[in-house]
Amino acid sequence: SSVPSITLHNGVTMPQLGFGVWQVPDDEAATVVTHALEAGYRSIDTAAVYENEKGTGRAIASSGVPREEVFLTTKLWNSEHGYDSTLRAFDASLDRLGTDYVDLYLIHWPLPMFDRYVETWRAFEKLYADGRVRAIGVSNFQPPHLERLLAETSAVPVINQIELHPRLQQEQSRTFHAAHGIATEAWSPLGQGKDILNDPVITKIAERHGKTAAQVILRWHLQLGNVVIPKSVTPSRIRENIDVFDFELPAEDLSALAGLESASRLGPDPSEMD
Ligand code: NAD
Repeated sequence: SSVPSITLHNGVTMPQLGFGVWQVPDDEAATVVTHALEAGYRSIDTAAVYENEKGTGRAIASSGVPREEVFLTTKLWNSEHGYDSTLRAFDASLDRLGTDYVDLYLIHWPLPMFDRYVETWRAFEKLYADGRVRAIGVSNFQPPHLERLLAETSAVPVINQIELHPRLQQEQSRTFHAAHGIATEAWSPLGQGKDILNDPVITKIAERHGKTAAQVILRWHLQLGNVVIPKSVTPSRIRENIDVFDFELPAEDLSALAGLESASRLGPDPSEMD
């Protein structure tokens, strides 16, 4: 069965499950994004700093899938915060992607110590007003950073992409987002494929459903309402990760998964990163 969409607060729809390409070299990106599109993914998550916008754009252009059927996300890197530098960085991303718009543009990190995310956001508002992006959002923002955008600017981010997996469930952020109509998008939704995939709580649930641990984790995200963007370069896993729409976790499985919270970050703390 096919991937459901969520409606962002500006009315734009986005597939709830997409494909992430962090750490995929540019010359491999074209191949893996082609595999993902063939497997049925219609949302691709890249970033300027991944240095694979070219390969990603090439795969989309040559896929035979119409551009308007692919939801393309890219992100502004940290070195480009500021109004004019954001506008320039956006042009450079479009150029590398080989397209004339992106569906979603995100501020990659808030860098609160640098303190230019409000000014950066004003440039995002301009790109949105000019119709060059269909939606604008943020990544790695914590409630105090979102509070500032809400207080000092007029556009509410449509989405916040944050580290989120069973060991870092982000209860506080999810509650804050829900209260403001901001969608929650999970990065490293599989905990980067590390030991969590062997957690006995998860493997037992997986066995019971005849699914894999990765599929159970993705299903958990979807049932919580999260947007997910799992990454893999292996064709069989790329297919496995989108094959999650033919089963449902009952409440008892969801509560067993809720019990895995351990405040374990894989990435940096956004409030300390500069
Ligand atoms: P992930 O949680 O998606 O895990 C990916 C890894 O898990 C793979 O490299 C592979 O080793 C393993 N894996 C994937 N599918 C599997 C399967 N079916 N069975 C077994 N192992 C499997 O980690 P990620 O790549 O860090 O996150 C996903 C995407 O999120 C990234 O590609 C990127 O697009 C985005 N991201 C964003 C930020 C940010 O700061 N905004 C940070 C990190 C990642």
